[in-house]
Amino acid sequence: MFLHKTPSFLFKLYPSLIWRKPTKEKVIYLTFDDGPIPNLTPWVLDVLREFNAKATFFCVGENVQKHPEIFQQIIEEGHAVGNHTFNHLNGWKTPDIDYLRNTLRADEEIRKYTKTDLFRPPYGRIGRQQMKQLGHKRMIMWDVLSGDFSAKLNPERVLSKSIRYTSSGSIVVFHDNLKATQNLKYALPAYLAHFIELGYSFKAL
Ligand SMILES: [Zn+2]
Repeated sequence: MFLHKTPSFLFKLYPSLIWRKPTKEKVIYLTFDDGPIPNLTPWVLDVLREFNAKATFFCVGENVQKHPEIFQQIIEEGHAVGNHTFNHLNGWKTPDIDYLRNTLRADEEIRKYTKTDLFRPPYGRIGRQQMKQLGHKRMIMWDVLSGDFSAKLNPERVLSKSIRYTSSGSIVVFHDNLKATQNLKYALPAYLAHFIELGYSFKAL
């Protein structure tokens, strides 16, 4: 199970992590995790372009290595990118030194194309020591989890939950990975249309 809305006590428990961006403007920060992949990332880019929306892509180093042309396209279209480790490691199950090395390996791959200090731990799971070792990075969590990756959720529910919990300054997680394809293809265009109609804009972190 997972929570669509991050409980606010976590914001206080981990103040060095970025959970949302306090603002009075109508701005939403969309994030896409796990790409880039040919089957879905170019589609996401098309949809974002259509709605004049910018977003942040947390990329897996291995996928950047495999699909550099898609990674470059993300950057060229004005989106932000961040590190999501090289092999999508779960921090709670990985020794600290391996976690650090794997993250730095993703840095090396990303650095061939651009600079970024953004990092998101896969699964949102990172140990205290790992956090400390990567303390020079901006650690981006989220306050809204779309649940697009879940086979138990239908696309309508992914959309309605995502809309319900989003507010100004929200950092929202979607995925450009295969598991999320069906839910994302339904929910993303409708989500963007909904908030643009209400006067929101979508910015990169
Ligand atoms: Zn991930």
